[in-house]
Amino acid sequence: MQTPYIFNIQKFSTHDGPGIRTTFFFKGCPLQCMWCHNPESQKYEPEYMVAKDGKNELVGKQYSIKELVKKAQSDQIFFDRSGGGVTFSGGEVMTQEISYVEELAKQLKKIGISVLIDTCGIAPESNFKKLLPYVDGFLYDLKFLDSQQHCKFTGAQNQLALKNLQLISDSGGAIYLRLLLLKRINDDVPAMTNIISWLKDNHIKIKRVDLLPYHNFGRDKYTKLGRICTQNFEAPEKECLEDLKKLLEGAGYFVKIGG
Ligand code: SF4
Repeated sequence: MQTPYIFNIQKFSTHDGPGIRTTFFFKGCPLQCMWCHNPESQKYEPEYMVAKDGKNELVGKQYSIKELVKKAQSDQIFFDRSGGGVTFSGGEVMTQEISYVEELAKQLKKIGISVLIDTCGIAPESNFKKLLPYVDGFLYDLKFLDSQQHCKFTGAQNQLALKNLQLISDSGGAIYLRLLLLKRINDDVPAMTNIISWLKDNHIKIKRVDLLPYHNFGRDKYTKLGRICTQNFEAPEKECLEDLKKLLEGAGYFVKIGG
């Protein structure tokens, strides 16, 4: 079994699903989204990044399943009180050694810790089938409904992401649909109307929609990794976010602005 690399463990997170959560960020992603604010998550192998003290720090560490379970268990009291748990994020956790991810989820479930998976959906269907019995839901980052746009901004077509979203819904898995919004690119009413129509036409059941306005907090990380940041996106206007929220609510969805 290939032990995946983890680039961050975030405790007391309130942005990665309901309640207080511990988030394990797995290193490695099949996409290269132009707006990515965690560029250190993209490569599957460890790499150096300049730390706060100006020294080079190796990003990416391997943990045994036992170590991660122990880390999660230390905050179980907060999970229980807040309705939280553990979130596997990335990078793209569903493209990691799946027997490792499956065993980790299985062991957490066994001791009563809820697991959510944050995914872009670009991963083998068989991996989703393996994880479905052990997780309480998916934070599903649908980048674009239009495959050409998906490819232009992330480097991959989106058919697999749509297929896996359908699979989770048909299997009864809870879906928190996360939509990143970029000003003048996908923050318009027709684009959101298309998403709503597609969800309705395909009977996709959504627990909540999270509207995520673009932010540029990760820009300096590119320099720290010795890469060039080419991002020049802007966040949608507040009124625009409210309009899209109303549109989704009118279609029967529970909507939150922010993660
Ligand atoms: S899917 Fe997420 S981690 Fe991967 S490149 Fe896109 S934004 Fe970054």
